[in-house]
Amino acid sequence: MEKKSFVVVTRNDLTPVCPYCEARLEEVYRKATGIGFFLFARSVLYFCPSCRKVLGAGQSSWA
Ligand SMILES: [Zn+2]
Repeated sequence: MEKKSFVVVTRNDLTPVCPYCEARLEEVYRKATGIGFFLFARSVLYFCPSCRKVLGAGQSSWA
């Protein structure tokens, strides 16, 4: 069985680009939704500051 490795390269010199409006993402905005009870993680949305389209979502229990 062939084992393939996945290489992750840190490139802090490159700026990500929004897939929607192609703005250079020097920063992204984050919005936490939900009340954030102890046992229930809040949902977090990451969105483009330029077009405000959602780039990703996640769960956070500390935000
Ligand atoms: Zn955008």
